[in-house]
Amino acid sequence: MIDATKIIDLLSGKQIGKYYQIYDKSQWYSPEEMRVYQISKLKRLLTHCYAHVPYYRNLMISKSIFPSDVRDLAILQEFPIITKEQIKAEYDRFMPNNEHQIKGIKTSQTGGTTGNILYKRNDARTRSSVWASYKRFYDWMGIRPGDRVMNFWGGHVIKHGWKDTWIKRFSDLLRNSVSLDAYDTRPEIFDEIVNTLKNKHIRLIRSYPQALYSLAKKLDEQGLTFDIKAILTTSEPLMPQHRELFRKVFNAGSFDQYGCGEIGGIAYECAEHNGLHVTEERVILESNEKDELLITDLDNYAMPYIRYWNADQAIFSDELCPCGRKSRLISQVMGRTCDYLTGVNGQILHWAYFWHLLFDTNIAIDRNFIKFQIVQKAPDLIVFRTVSDPLTDIDKETLIRMIHQKMGNMRVEFVLEEDIPNTPSGKYRPVINELL
Ligand SMILES: [Zn+2]
Repeated sequence: MIDATKIIDLLSGKQIGKYYQIYDKSQWYSPEEMRVYQISKLKRLLTHCYAHVPYYRNLMISKSIFPSDVRDLAILQEFPIITKEQIKAEYDRFMPNNEHQIKGIKTSQTGGTTGNILYKRNDARTRSSVWASYKRFYDWMGIRPGDRVMNFWGGHVIKHGWKDTWIKRFSDLLRNSVSLDAYDTRPEIFDEIVNTLKNKHIRLIRSYPQALYSLAKKLDEQGLTFDIKAILTTSEPLMPQHRELFRKVFNAGSFDQYGCGEIGGIAYECAEHNGLHVTEERVILESNEKDELLITDLDNYAMPYIRYWNADQAIFSDELCPCGRKSRLISQVMGRTCDYLTGVNGQILHWAYFWHLLFDTNIAIDRNFIKFQIVQKAPDLIVFRTVSDPLTDIDKETLIRMIHQKMGNMRVEFVLEEDIPNTPSGKYRPVINELL
């Protein structure tokens, strides 16, 4: 089998191989060794910012911070928290003035769904580092180069134009993967999926939890099971019920990963399934009092992100992983700050509450839930949209009673849907607050 990493390195001027060799060793670093590694990278980054990035140069001069002072990660506390809006407002001042010296700068859009577009930028160094951490993640899943992959994403990823399809097929061939559209519900597509799973020796499925859960339910109804090595999920909450069904239908463990458009891959689950290991070689993660992440990207010189607030919430674990790696664990990625509802009594509830409400009462199982979405339409009104069998009066009474206990005297409406479309970027949102 072709070693895709070597070819990509050659074609793109990246150095995935070099970073991978480092990260293969550094995953076993002690916390002290990792701290030393992080400080040396931070020092290099701040030296670059001081010399070449006007926003940070001004800031550092005004605070008398000099690159030679960087001896501890605590120096980050001297830097302000940066938001997407701030970068947009002063875009040119965040741009380095030595672009010609930075290899492989690429600019692309991110955050197009909310209308809040930021032109994200990174360089060859960042992409090499991200890919190397991803390659290490494949080691953790037990997936080897050449193992066949089934991509089960949304139609936005698999474009329908002939040119895109051709390029897609070619890259599928190189990478030994098959891509199927998770939102194409025609029966012949379902047959193609079953056929692929049966005959193509798929070792890894990459998908969104909700899309794959819907598929797994259909396969389970037909009594079909498969022998896949690993399931890789991203972008949406992966819940215990997802993992359980994936284990049953695909005979595989689920490996969640977390990243964001601006920074790339940030944390990955290991085979202990005990949380997501932060790639501390690449990022320094802090969180504020609302559990929102502040991210410092140690690799990106083309667009420095220092204490970047990306609106994602995550809960850190204090435990060490039994796998022996000492990196910090994220026990739960909660997603965007806007994904919560507010009761008339002021109670704030996250999607996870509604998930437990539906599964702990068994209503999700009994009524054959394919998908649900809870939308706050007014301060005292929430709408329960479900793609499911009709809810009984007792189901509705149970849900309303429990919602009243938590959120006060809310009006609750139930709507049975044929389908609940994902956002234009392909994301499923279990909870939407239209008031935010
Ligand atoms: Zn681990």
